[in-house]
Amino acid sequence: MKRRKVLILCIDAGSHDYLTASTLPTFQKLAESGFYLHANAVIPSVTNVNNVSIATGTFPEVHGITTNYHVDRATGKGEFIEDNRFLLAPTLFEAAKTSKFADKTALFVTKKKLLRMLEAGTDIAVAAEEPPSEYIQMAGPVEPIYSSEINWWLLRAVTETLRRDDPELVYCSTTDWVQHKYAPDAEHSQQHLAVLDQIMSDIVDDNPEREIYITADHGMLAKTTALDPGRVLTEKGIPASAIPIIKDRYIAHHGNLGGAAYVFLKNLADTPEAIQKLLSTPGIEEAYTAEDAAATFRLHRERIGDIFVLADETTVFGELETAVEPTDVRSHGSRHESYVPIIGYNSPWSATDFEYNLDVGRLFLESLR
Ligand SMILES: [Zn+2]
Repeated sequence: MKRRKVLILCIDAGSHDYLTASTLPTFQKLAESGFYLHANAVIPSVTNVNNVSIATGTFPEVHGITTNYHVDRATGKGEFIEDNRFLLAPTLFEAAKTSKFADKTALFVTKKKLLRMLEAGTDIAVAAEEPPSEYIQMAGPVEPIYSSEINWWLLRAVTETLRRDDPELVYCSTTDWVQHKYAPDAEHSQQHLAVLDQIMSDIVDDNPEREIYITADHGMLAKTTALDPGRVLTEKGIPASAIPIIKDRYIAHHGNLGGAAYVFLKNLADTPEAIQKLLSTPGIEEAYTAEDAAATFRLHRERIGDIFVLADETTVFGELETAVEPTDVRSHGSRHESYVPIIGYNSPWSATDFEYNLDVGRLFLESLR
């Protein structure tokens, strides 16, 4: 029996509107001989949460990653999630090794924080932001983190590693600076994806029998209003603060403005009134108690604050000087960016087996048992 090999490519913010606005002959070929389907991303539709969901094949209620920025309930202190101390589930790499599916596993990501979160069980782990020197020889000099080139570099490194090491399981995740800056029909965006498609064609030529999945962690939409849910509540007599779930150190991507937030109340007894006030605020589309949010979105109950809020299509949440202000950013995090494509090629499954992007990981895990 031939050895099964798998490549999962998560295009950061690679939503349907981005893919269809570009000319992508390789992706199209893979979709035509396999499948192309519309799936859900995990809500909150942010990078960490969805990459960890795909790469563990589980929802945040199991893997524990609900945000980019963790607030300790006991101390009130916050910290960026940049390694796997908060990760509660094994990775696909660990499962592939323990089940003897893989002799070699490989993880390729643009940002090193994602590398640290997902690296358990990998034999090869490369962040384009800070690659080992042998990969610079293989794929070229390091590119700036805020560029298209860094994603091209990353996929070239995958191409070369497949040639050299042929790992049975490869997971690759790009970064979404381009989509934060450019709409789907912008030339810059079309070129970004066209080059990824071109590199993908080398990979398919080299590996005609490998299972390939292409999906995304979330979409990306233009936003015109910024809102601080903590300030909204405080001004209405309910002391509260809110953490935008997107909050990370890469401020040039999104200015820490995103479509989902966890609200922390000073007094838990204010919860019902706070939810009412949030829901009557223009720009806020959904507000849930932590219990309801955990059940509805399969989130980890202890890591989502007191109230979970989702923004409407044109609003983002942030930590602001005023309750509401105009803005002009492209961002994600809400339900409106939670729709993603899945392309499957050489897959033993069919399109109807997939409901979420993380099903790529989940079905793989199940097939190891
Ligand atoms: Zn992302």
